[in-house]
Amino acid sequence: MKSDSSKFDISRRNILKYGGGFIGTGLLAAAMGVETLTPSPVVAQNDMTPDQALAKLMDGNKRFATMKSKNPNQNLVRLQELAKGQKPFAAVLSCADSRVPVEIIFDQGLGDIFVCRDAGNIAIKEEVGSLEFGTLVLGAKILLVIGHESCGAVIATMKGGEVPGSIGTILAQIEPAITEFMGKQDDEMAVRKAVEANVLHQIEVLKRSPIISDLVAQNKLKVVGAYYDLDTGEISLVG
Ligand SMILES: [Zn+2]
Repeated sequence: MKSDSSKFDISRRNILKYGGGFIGTGLLAAAMGVETLTPSPVVAQNDMTPDQALAKLMDGNKRFATMKSKNPNQNLVRLQELAKGQKPFAAVLSCADSRVPVEIIFDQGLGDIFVCRDAGNIAIKEEVGSLEFGTLVLGAKILLVIGHESCGAVIATMKGGEVPGSIGTILAQIEPAITEFMGKQDDEMAVRKAVEANVLHQIEVLKRSPIISDLVAQNKLKVVGAYYDLDTGEISLVG
């Protein structure tokens, strides 16, 4: 068992080593205050294990998918508590698709989930940095990467060919994961498999982060893949 002070030293060293330059001194001090030094004024949410955090998400999704959502933590009182600091218990990388609003499908509210979204739920470096912040500094215990049914970004990648503007930069991040499914965009099962393969690939990219892989090695974080079914609203785990 480590003492509180050694826990502090480890956290401080890691933050300085990996995040000090990016986070900045003032924010770093504030974040460490929330993380290790003083009891948080915020209702502690992330003092749980990665498995408990995952169960909390899955329980919320079960409520959503059975139309029993409780819509917790969605009022001004909650927001005013959070103005003093946040301790989200989960971090999520999901698609920007309008059918994947993360807090709604997990029946959570303000301050619960640190969310990154982009088309195709790709782990580009800005998302990796954001999720390092959400896990190392804010203390999220579960990092869920969610792909979903009929993902336009994945389907466009499977189709191949020219796309306008900067859209191609997104597809280039997906293509290495789904080479075996190229040209099979009309096969529903192939689309699902490609979505799942993309989720697993983006998890691999995330785990190249020394911060994220260290947290996983210390059992402070789990990185898990998931698939969101648009017909049922259900989330199932991938991998
Ligand atoms: Zn999508």
